[in-house]
Amino acid sequence: EETSEAHNPIAIAETGTQTDLLWDISLRARIDQAMEVGEIYCVYQPKIDLKSKSLAGVEALVRWHDPSRGFISPMHFIQQCEKAGRMEHLTRYVLQSACSAGQLLHSRGRKITMAINISATLLGDMRIVSVVRTVLDATSFDPKFLVLEITETARITDYAAAGSVLEELRTIGVKISMDDFGVGAASFEAFYELPFDELKIDRLFVSNMAQNPKARAIVASVAAMGHEARITVVAEGLENPQDIGLLEAIGCQQVQGFAFSRPISLTNLLEYNEAGMPRPVARMV
Ligand code: C2E
Ligand code: MG
Ligand code: MG
Ligand code: MG
Repeated sequence: EETSEAHNPIAIAETGTQTDLLWDISLRARIDQAMEVGEIYCVYQPKIDLKSKSLAGVEALVRWHDPSRGFISPMHFIQQCEKAGRMEHLTRYVLQSACSAGQLLHSRGRKITMAINISATLLGDMRIVSVVRTVLDATSFDPKFLVLEITETARITDYAAAGSVLEELRTIGVKISMDDFGVGAASFEAFYELPFDELKIDRLFVSNMAQNPKARAIVASVAAMGHEARITVVAEGLENPQDIGLLEAIGCQQVQGFAFSRPISLTNLLEYNEAGMPRPVARMV
């Protein structure tokens, strides 16, 4: 095995365009192996029912812990994964982990939803439908409890094609969620054109509600819109516990954020009490 740092593209990749490129290339090459050995895994962030303050479900968020380099940001390696053409593979892996975890929770009487992120780039054809079907069959997880959060709606160029993929997914029984609503191209147009069951208001607005009347107005109007359109509305990225009351006054179904819990390991999640309340001691990941 090569140990010399000078010959290791990962070790020299701290600065500069060329070394960044080497780092990204080595990252891309290592994605598959990282999944095989478990360096890539899921953590789970609670989605809290705002009325009852109980656990409604969790969102699986992917992590990569490289033994020599530490944590690699999901934003970064997901982008590399797209470039390497391994997005479908990563999604299958995350889906498999998340549905197994969900099935385990259900077998212990914890009937909560399991959400996973699906990049909009996978909505171009029907392959994702068979991936979801296969994983649901393999894990026996109840499709009604699976939520697919569509990220990077910006990448959807053909609403008709994406719409038929999403409709096909819905016939399986899974729920479709629109992630990061209000920023980028997670737009009213996308909301209007595509069959969503849930809408997640982006953290930008939720985290600034208390100080900024415009942010507050946006959260309130999106919550009202969701109510009118009969879809679940989730506020994401609520950090300050003092803002919980504000959100209750506005009224949306679910809330997610550091105010309630950071993403936690499956082990931690299994230790939650019967009421499903996040523990303040939840380990930071
Ligand atoms: P997202 O789906 O919108 O997930 C929410 C992100 O916000 C997560 O970051 C979460 O840790 C963070 N977050 C949650 N609550 C708070 C809060 O109160 N304050 C702050 N500051 N942050 C909060 P994370 O895990 O780094 O993920 C970033 C993005 O990467 C996700 O955004 C999602 O778009 C993408 N992602 C993560 N896992 C996957 C995956 O398995 N597949 C795909 N396609 N994308 C994924
Ligand atoms: Mg998400
Ligand atoms: Mg989001
Ligand atoms: Mg986001």
